[in-house]
Amino acid sequence: MTPPILLLATSNEDKIREIVEILADLPVQFRNLKDYPGLAEPVEDAETFLGNAEKKALHYAKLTGLWALADDSGLEVDCLNGLPGVHSARFAGPQRDPLANNRKLVTMLAGIPLEQRRARFWCAAALAKDGQIAAFAEDAVEGLVIDEPRGKNGFGYDPHFLVPELGRTTAELEPEHKNAISHRGKAVRRIGVLIREIFLKNEEKPPR
Ligand code: IMP
Repeated sequence: MTPPILLLATSNEDKIREIVEILADLPVQFRNLKDYPGLAEPVEDAETFLGNAEKKALHYAKLTGLWALADDSGLEVDCLNGLPGVHSARFAGPQRDPLANNRKLVTMLAGIPLEQRRARFWCAAALAKDGQIAAFAEDAVEGLVIDEPRGKNGFGYDPHFLVPELGRTTAELEPEHKNAISHRGKAVRRIGVLIREIFLKNEEKPPR
């Protein structure tokens, strides 16, 4: 039987790469929004990562008729009352420029000692089809925000996100190592288990 299509409801190359690596064993055909150009974008105006992930999953499932898996993620810094939070992608403006976002973050943290720069990457993942959320999962990874960028891997805030137990930023980790410990790795692996169960159950149903 042809494996079902799973639409990754993003056109962010970095997220696509990570999610496909994390879900490599799932018996599905991956597609992403670049395979469906011209679809209208949803308004991401929820106050939580999960709210936005659900919105995106429902929106793209409706537009395509496919199973849609959305990830909404970002960085929460405790001493900034959770900023950039759900605004992580556009923190420094609508151009979604990671360098400008990082510059803004480091400027806001000027003078604050390292031990007070506690932060976490948060990821919410949601799966939708036919107007329903079929599964969701959330997870986080804890760290500290550093001034000087370190490392060339990853994307976004990774060069400034130090994982204290490892003594490395997430941009200094090999991709498999980041996926093993990251917010996205943990949340997407969990939703992957649920997706496998849902798809297996659907296969068992007699054809209508
Ligand atoms: P979204 O596309 O609205 O979910 O925005 C996610 C934003 O959060 C990205 O553009 C990055 O700025 C940030 N972000 C999320 N996950 C990561 C990560 O794994 N590393 C670094 N930055 C991340």
